[in-house]
Amino acid sequence: MKFNTVVIGAGYAGLVLAERLATQKNQKVLVIEQRQHIGGNTYDRFTDEGILIHEYGPHIFHTRSKVIWDYLSQFTEWHHYEHRVKAMIDGQEVPLPFNLNTMDQVFPKGLAQRLQTKLVDLLGYNVKVPILKLREQEDEDLKFLADYVYEKVFLHYTLKQWGIGPEELDPTVTGRVPVYISRDDRYFQDRYQGLPLRGYTAMFQKMINHPNISVLLNTNYRDVMTIEAGKIELFGQPFTGDVIYTGKIDELFDYKYGELPYRSLRFEYDTYDQEYVQSVGQLNTPNGYDFTRKTEFKHLTGQKHPKTVVAREYPEAYVRGENTPYYPIIADENKEKLKQYRKLAEQLECVHLVGRLAEYRYYDMDGVVAAALKLAKKLIQE
Ligand code: FAD
Ligand code: UDP
Repeated sequence: MKFNTVVIGAGYAGLVLAERLATQKNQKVLVIEQRQHIGGNTYDRFTDEGILIHEYGPHIFHTRSKVIWDYLSQFTEWHHYEHRVKAMIDGQEVPLPFNLNTMDQVFPKGLAQRLQTKLVDLLGYNVKVPILKLREQEDEDLKFLADYVYEKVFLHYTLKQWGIGPEELDPTVTGRVPVYISRDDRYFQDRYQGLPLRGYTAMFQKMINHPNISVLLNTNYRDVMTIEAGKIELFGQPFTGDVIYTGKIDELFDYKYGELPYRSLRFEYDTYDQEYVQSVGQLNTPNGYDFTRKTEFKHLTGQKHPKTVVAREYPEAYVRGENTPYYPIIADENKEKLKQYRKLAEQLECVHLVGRLAEYRYYDMDGVVAAALKLAKKLIQE
């Protein structure tokens, strides 16, 4: 078959593009994926005992965008789920993001009330304040609160997760989990939240179930393609169509300017012979353990099963060829290198970089879908 477009990587970014180009532009699309399955890091599967788990870390879909929600809803029904997270602080499970309810649990009544009144008076109600911003407050009470939350929730978790402290990261990273002046215990406030009813993998299978789409698994694109400025080959023949690249941007250029750093994770799974073991889907352990959080998938998926699986997440350094580049490390010192790679990418005319690895952005799923739909629209109009 002659292909119009080659998509490298079968995660959200690649599969949304494949679907759009196949169905809206009647293009023949080849998807090349190095893993033995589609779905990228959102791949899920059933264990031998029949429990649906997420292979590369827990994934909860959430978005404010009706367009994105409606787009994905063509390929799946949803299990409507609002994520609840608790953090272990001094032996207690307390709601996260740190909010007014959390304060009732960790402080004596009088102190909690004083801090709550101060917060609302000075900053307002239903307001999200990144911890690094809260630490800039002049008020003595708020300083005390900020130091407390910084120490108990952020400092040690961040050191474990990233290997560096909160100040060394771009403030948007810890800003993802702000102090929330509210009594809303949900982890996300987005209007649309949930998990694909039969799982992410099933959703993706439906998305690419089209005669125009072919998928080549277990294949690094380098085994079948050459991508250089002015020279693109597929199976040893010149290729003049578009290439959608969703792998690492530094890898595309043979690490010419050195590696962009990533953080990796190791997952350990425990199966329990009981229906549930945790009070909520996710339990964070900022202090005192090597793992950062534990996720009990059945809370997320809504699956009924007499047994349950919990995953523990152990952050670790990313070593090329040994583990998975899960998190781009968004910090000032990496921005210059990224710029250099982006300049090189601009010289590859028909190659379009999209997704978490190719753009080196700390995207959530909805952000990747938005970026992929935007690129698809541009390519369809060309
Ligand atoms: P990926 O899913 O990484 O897909 C890229 C694909 O390209 C991979 O399958 C890879 O194997 C393939 N590839 C790379 N290089 C090559 C090559 N050389 N040849 C062939 N194939 C190649 N987002 C949320 O919205 N909610 C969450 O709860 C959430 N939880 C997360 C938890 C964890 C632990 C992590 C790491 C991320 C989480 N995310 C979450 C983010 C989400 O995983 C990403 O936004 C999304 O999966 C990115 O999709 P992508 O297509 O850009 O990349
Ligand atoms: N964070 C923290 N303590 C927590 C939860 C989050 O310090 O209990 C910080 C940490 O730096 C983390 C970041 O906030 O990497 C973003 O957290 P989020 O839960 O969004 O991370 P993800 O789900 O993407 O791993």
